[in-house]
Amino acid sequence: MTESRTRRELLRAGAAAVTALGTWSATSQLFGWSKERTVMQTQPITKGSTPRSVERVLASTSEHWVGDGFRVRSVISPNGEPRVQSPFLLLDHAARRHFEPALQPRGVGEHPHRGFETVTFAYRGEIAHRDSAGGGGLIGPGDVQWMTAAGGIVHEEMHSQRFTEQGGDMEMVQLWVNLPAKSKLSTPGYQPLLDKDFPRLSLGSAQARLVAGKLGKVEGPARTHTPMTIFDLTFGEDGVSEFSLPLGFTSLTFALEGDVRVGADARNVTPGQLAVLDRKQDGPVVVQGKKGARVLVLSGEPIAEPVAAYGPFVMNTRDELVQAMQDYQSGKMGHL
Ligand code: MN
Repeated sequence: MTESRTRRELLRAGAAAVTALGTWSATSQLFGWSKERTVMQTQPITKGSTPRSVERVLASTSEHWVGDGFRVRSVISPNGEPRVQSPFLLLDHAARRHFEPALQPRGVGEHPHRGFETVTFAYRGEIAHRDSAGGGGLIGPGDVQWMTAAGGIVHEEMHSQRFTEQGGDMEMVQLWVNLPAKSKLSTPGYQPLLDKDFPRLSLGSAQARLVAGKLGKVEGPARTHTPMTIFDLTFGEDGVSEFSLPLGFTSLTFALEGDVRVGADARNVTPGQLAVLDRKQDGPVVVQGKKGARVLVLSGEPIAEPVAAYGPFVMNTRDELVQAMQDYQSGKMGHL
């Protein structure tokens, strides 16, 4: 009993330390479920089989600051239902926001991660990254940073010096991707992926930028630990974009901007909302958008393992979380 009390205290102390550092943790956030069922105007879909249905639409939380640099809304969090979201753990969107010039860079100071990957999409502005494994660099508009925390890393995520001095608009997404148990303690990694590295595909009225996995025969540059396909869509005109995603994968469409409708019933998905597609249905995924609409598409093979999440650590068991906190506090995840 003494041992379990000690562990509880350790968890509490670790959580306090981690919260004080300001992290991407959103473990206390709850889902909001959209009640909207209105069927909007549906453009006729003439080719192929029946489009996939939207199983549910998840709403974002209200906005909150992560550190002092990113004002985000969260649509999934690590303690959410794995059945709905695995292998994805968290999706935070810092919608477009203007920052005045400043003297000190804003952002999220030194904090740890273990057991998963953080994938940062910069859409506007410029972010500087630095980590205890020696990874680092700048990502600007269109760039993606794929950081594999795995066995443990300490990093900081800040507005770049140039952005701080000049000010401007910032928009970014941070996605947490789970790792299978066998990779949770492997060596950390860092992939800076530049806008120019992403293959462009014309999918109906939208252009896709392929970050990871396959769309037809085309493959994105990111190396992943489990099978997944990640791309974003930008509508160049009002119209329809149609594509197929693997049967059985978790498939999610997040509306970044504009007027977006998804699935067989053309469900309205407003910016900050996420449509969960029926994974047992074999039809094409159909997304309608108005000119300028932008959508992030995430599709991944679920990881059928238990999830134990606490702050910046995502493991399989509670004991592994305790170990993660001990390792962080004793400096085993390194220093900046
Ligand atoms: Mn982080």
